[in-house]
Amino acid sequence: QKPVPSDIVVSRSCVPKPIDRLAKEVGLLSDEVELYGKTKAKVQLNIIKRLQSQPDGKYVVVTGITPTPLGEGKSTTTIGLVQALGAHMKLNVFACVRQPSQGPTFGIKGGAAGGGYSQVIPMEEFNLHLTGDIHAITAANNLVAAAVDARMFHEATQSDKALYNRLVPLSGGQRKFSPIQINRLKKLGIDKTDPSTLTEEEITRFARLDIDPSSVTWQRVLDTNDRFLRKITIGQAPTEKGYTREAQFDITVASEIMAVLALTSSLEDMRQRLAKMVVATSRSGQPITTEDLGVSGALTVLMKDAIKPNLMQTLEGTPVFVHAGPFANIAHGNSSILADKIALKLVGPDGFVVTEAGFGADIGMEKFFNIKCRYSGLRPHVVVLVATVRALKMHGGGPTVTAGMPLPKEYVEENLELLRNGCSNMRKQIENAKHFGVPVVVAVNAFKTDTEAELDLVCSMAKDGGAFDAVRCSHWAEGGAGAMALGQAVQKASDAPSNFKFLYELELPIADKIRIIAQKIYGADDIELLPEAQHKVELYTKQGFGNLPICMAKTHLSLSHEADKKGVPTGFVVPIRDIRASVGAGFLYPLVGTMPTIPGLPTRPCFYDIDLDPETEQVNGLF
Ligand code: ADP
Repeated sequence: QKPVPSDIVVSRSCVPKPIDRLAKEVGLLSDEVELYGKTKAKVQLNIIKRLQSQPDGKYVVVTGITPTPLGEGKSTTTIGLVQALGAHMKLNVFACVRQPSQGPTFGIKGGAAGGGYSQVIPMEEFNLHLTGDIHAITAANNLVAAAVDARMFHEATQSDKALYNRLVPLSGGQRKFSPIQINRLKKLGIDKTDPSTLTEEEITRFARLDIDPSSVTWQRVLDTNDRFLRKITIGQAPTEKGYTREAQFDITVASEIMAVLALTSSLEDMRQRLAKMVVATSRSGQPITTEDLGVSGALTVLMKDAIKPNLMQTLEGTPVFVHAGPFANIAHGNSSILADKIALKLVGPDGFVVTEAGFGADIGMEKFFNIKCRYSGLRPHVVVLVATVRALKMHGGGPTVTAGMPLPKEYVEENLELLRNGCSNMRKQIENAKHFGVPVVVAVNAFKTDTEAELDLVCSMAKDGGAFDAVRCSHWAEGGAGAMALGQAVQKASDAPSNFKFLYELELPIADKIRIIAQKIYGADDIELLPEAQHKVELYTKQGFGNLPICMAKTHLSLSHEADKKGVPTGFVVPIRDIRASVGAGFLYPLVGTMPTIPGLPTRPCFYDIDLDPETEQVNGLF
């Protein structure tokens, strides 16, 4: 076998077809496509209306066993599979993937465009700014943050009347409410549109949000791995008159606006979700929203282009939508509903849309079904579960695997015993997928050190464990040709009967929903709500958010809440430290332990290797 060059060398060895040609090939009309240079385009949402009577294609979700910190190849398999189905089996296909954060691109190595001969190209465009969606989210998110602090400052330094006069200024001798202010009056139960009719008491209620500064949950964001922003003090200039406050930055992909983008179904729906986001609580216990701050219309304006999916292509010329990239712990870790919906229409009833869910099946797939599919109404036909020999050996008792360090010998030499023990994790994840009533195809992503006996063992253990089928694949080394068996297995499974069901009903109490996930998916004995979580259960139930789905913020490195417990841990109780609400995106997220929301840079970050060739304008050193 000839060695596989680096991802960027492979990516650059292939000349992408002009994106307008690809758009035409997949059935887009020229006025539905907005070109961003020669290799990227945005697709307008009005296509959904044009194709509304077209039946959807088959819907496939790619997930994985509990991974090592290196990743086991979900993105690579997503791309390899569509290359097989599209370029080799000549079916209509689309891959739908997340846009990666730029933080890791310059931090710890790891692209997200797939790898080897299964990639989205050009990979440097994919991994850098793309069409600016993440920057739009940064802008929108930070506008909200600025609005929160400015509002608290103005309320603290002005009388009710002065505040009101500035919020509803005189224009041509008269005061007039904006539409957003009329919405706020309605929410307060004041059914008036003429400012001159407000009583003194109504003026106070309207003008003062009365935000409790200690309750602000909205943070500033940045798409850079900057650990020194994890805790900051804002307002230190004398102009802010001593109104300082401890705050923090998160990475942009952790912003609720990213989760809104991923879960929205239209511009109108996005406007409503952006208006419902809760940023703080008032001193009297009322949730304060972006609509209360008057900023929701402006947010929609900032996000009006980001809502359109981005069209790119694989190394073998098949189409890809790259759209949204929410964090997979404090958010749901899946690409956008809109991209999936448009792709399902474009491929038609005989085609396939392959979408990817972040982390292992206990997290990304569970959220794909219980959150994403619940909001989209889409029903998947097949789950592809990616497994690797190396991760299974780790679950069977192999030594710790660390990113950036050479693999211990257990992982590069045949060891059937470790492997057999570790297959328990794969079998539990197969069972997890089957809870939802969807057939599972296991894709054994082969590495060059895996032996025939090892690959055979994983396939037979998977079939014994209830998989519809299990096949080995070599798409990383061989492109789509290496995933033909997988393509055929997926095609067959998509015709098998499926009986999709959610794991829990939304009407159940919050604690019951969390317990069902912990017991059925993680294999826990029970959950324990710590005092802060108990308080939030009561608060959110009272505030009317109790019927939202649950988005668990748990480690992805174990089925349990402890990252070092491998295989299938038993006899544990999952502690729920706190619960937060993303009301606009539409979920509650219980925190199981502490989740870092902005990464740091290592001693030798990737940026050491990255540079531009001024002659050719080529980016060098990216993975
Ligand atoms: P995930 O999406 O599960 O996190 P990726 O598809 O991003 O995983 O793969 C993780 C890394 O492993 C990437 O750098 C990818 O190129 C590499 N990789 C994936 N499959 C193989 C393989 N079969 N052989 C060698 N490297 C691989």
